[in-house]
Amino acid sequence: MGWEQYIGNAGVVEALRRMLRAGRLPHSLAFTGPAGVGKYTLAIMLARAVNCEDEQARQQADFCGRCSNCRAIAGLQSYEEHPEFGPLLAERPRLSLEERRDNPLVLSTHPDVFVFPPDGKTRQISIHQVRRLAALAQYRPSRARQRVFILDEADRTDEVAANAMLKILEEPPPATLLILTAVSYFQLLPTIRSRAIPLHLGPLASEEVERLLEPLPWSQEEKRLAARLAEGSPGAARRLDLEESRRRRGELLALLRGGIERRDFSGLFSRTQALAQTREESLENLLALLYSLLHDILYLVVSRETGAPSHPLRNLDLEEELSGIARQVDWEWLVRAASRLDKLDGLLRRNINKQVALEALAMSLESVREQ
Ligand SMILES: [Zn+2]
Repeated sequence: MGWEQYIGNAGVVEALRRMLRAGRLPHSLAFTGPAGVGKYTLAIMLARAVNCEDEQARQQADFCGRCSNCRAIAGLQSYEEHPEFGPLLAERPRLSLEERRDNPLVLSTHPDVFVFPPDGKTRQISIHQVRRLAALAQYRPSRARQRVFILDEADRTDEVAANAMLKILEEPPPATLLILTAVSYFQLLPTIRSRAIPLHLGPLASEEVERLLEPLPWSQEEKRLAARLAEGSPGAARRLDLEESRRRRGELLALLRGGIERRDFSGLFSRTQALAQTREESLENLLALLYSLLHDILYLVVSRETGAPSHPLRNLDLEEELSGIARQVDWEWLVRAASRLDKLDGLLRRNINKQVALEALAMSLESVREQ
């Protein structure tokens, strides 16, 4: 029980333990990295390590998991599934602005540890939450050594709220630890990020993700597939609906195959978009799936042309179909198609008109074919 349960990113864990042992843990930390990679889990474990009451564990900058602090703080793990917080979070988007203001969202299962998740329909950390944090930070710890405040998805903080945080970040009250999580350090507002020490968590190896899926009631084969599809994010792997995912990827694969056979991709993306509308699935998600299919085909082609062992497939369950497509296309076409898709993804992230972006992509794939 303790840090050994944290899988992946051992270097970051080691750095935290070194700082803890030396008594040099900063007042503000930012854990950055892809969604579902384990940033929040790490924050909760750090809150436990900071406040564990077991002398032996403390000496090793570890936590015991059994003392009353450890157990109480563990209640905040996976708060979406918490019997009280789950329904509370589901209710929040339906509340009025005034109701959310008068009752800012803060989760706690220990008198000294507080979590501030994004709130409301727009999923933002509000100024009211930050004010609440500031008020709570004025108190000395009652049962813990340090009061811990976790801003989950702190990149979803608007400027007003970020400015309100400035004072706490600049002059942190004694015995407080502030932990922010964010996908990217640069998505945090400058006022926040310049005052928090960033530690980056990278994607896990798929074997590591598989180990974390061990407790789930899935077959070994399903676990391996989910780990590959999630590309290093245990959180994403856990949330996968494998059957639904297989159906979607199958549909996209059929579109891709049709495009290759007809040598015409103009319809591919409009059909992908139509699929996104009927499925209430975001176009970005479908493009990510399409990208992952292209990625696999690319490596199958590379392996065929060079004799090199193939890169492990992400879409393990579609191996046969993917190999079939790989026989029909050449390497150069795929490299360019994938890089065009990359560009499109970048454009979508910057919120340009989707239809325009898709048409541009379809046209560029056509020209790739002719080159
Ligand atoms: Zn403990």
